[in-house]
Amino acid sequence: MSKRTLIVAGSMNMDVVSRVARFPRSGETVHGSEVHYLPGGKGANQAVAAAQSGALTCMIGAVGTDGFGQQLLDALKLKQVDVTEVSVKDGASGIALIAVSDAGENQIVLCAGANGKVADVEIDALDRLLTEAGAIVLQNEIPWASNAAFMRKASDASVPVIYNPAPAGQLEVDVLPLIDTIILNETETELITGKMPQDETSLEEAAAWFLTRGTRAVIITLGAEGSFYRDAEGISCRVPARQVQPVDTTAAGDTFIGAYAAIRYGGAAGDASPQTALQYATAAAALSVMKLGAQASIPNRTEVFAFMS
Ligand code: ADP
Repeated sequence: MSKRTLIVAGSMNMDVVSRVARFPRSGETVHGSEVHYLPGGKGANQAVAAAQSGALTCMIGAVGTDGFGQQLLDALKLKQVDVTEVSVKDGASGIALIAVSDAGENQIVLCAGANGKVADVEIDALDRLLTEAGAIVLQNEIPWASNAAFMRKASDASVPVIYNPAPAGQLEVDVLPLIDTIILNETETELITGKMPQDETSLEEAAAWFLTRGTRAVIITLGAEGSFYRDAEGISCRVPARQVQPVDTTAAGDTFIGAYAAIRYGGAAGDASPQTALQYATAAAALSVMKLGAQASIPNRTEVFAFMS
């Protein structure tokens, strides 16, 4: 293992997606026109984005003994993610039941399955990887106590923590000093800080909310409006999104985060600055919105550099 292995500790889900003319009312049954089984989960998507960007990427987490577990592992292996530290737990894998209406809206039921059982065994797995780790990437689809334990262990070993608090939920402020870079979208920013980022002033205020509580860098993603970066050293920048025709924005944020982590901390482009990593992540995310799907839409390093040149 190289000195700059990127660790992603988080969720793996099978997305079971069906299209409906309209959503059912309570007690009603409607017909879905087709069913797709698509490997997803924020952790897995971010790991795929990092590996495809050239980082040696190792996943920590859990899948179930149902038929989906092996499919989730196979999908990650196909994208060059190391899954040797993923455990298999009795019972269901993480499953997202997704209905997409003809109006383009979606309803999602997320069943944590094995992701909800990520605990001591997986936290101990981190010990085997810490000395070689460039950074650890975390999200909010595993139990909060496990996330906090991953953060403490990584921080004690001086391994940078990249945290994507999505879906926004429990966040105890005493972990904020353990985080090197927090990456979150507008909705998550509003839910956590109480400030909706609308202009430069509110972006600065939202970033300050984290920086004054000890986090070292903040990236707020703004969909088609790009992203905003601010760190404790006073560096601040606004990165516009690439102008593209969006087809499906699923996993835009996951692609951005995995790509950023790979370039900034995964040794995929040497010791890249935040600005270099932001430019790369912005291009990778733009390419992902031009294609349908989550993991299927994540571009590789060659495609991103070709798009940037
Ligand atoms: P999330 O998927 O977590 O809600 P965002 O929607 O903020 O995240 O998207 C993350 C990044 O993806 C943005 O900062 C931007 O760089 C890129 N992106 C998102 N939507 C578009 C779009 N329509 N066109 C180009 N880039 C986009």
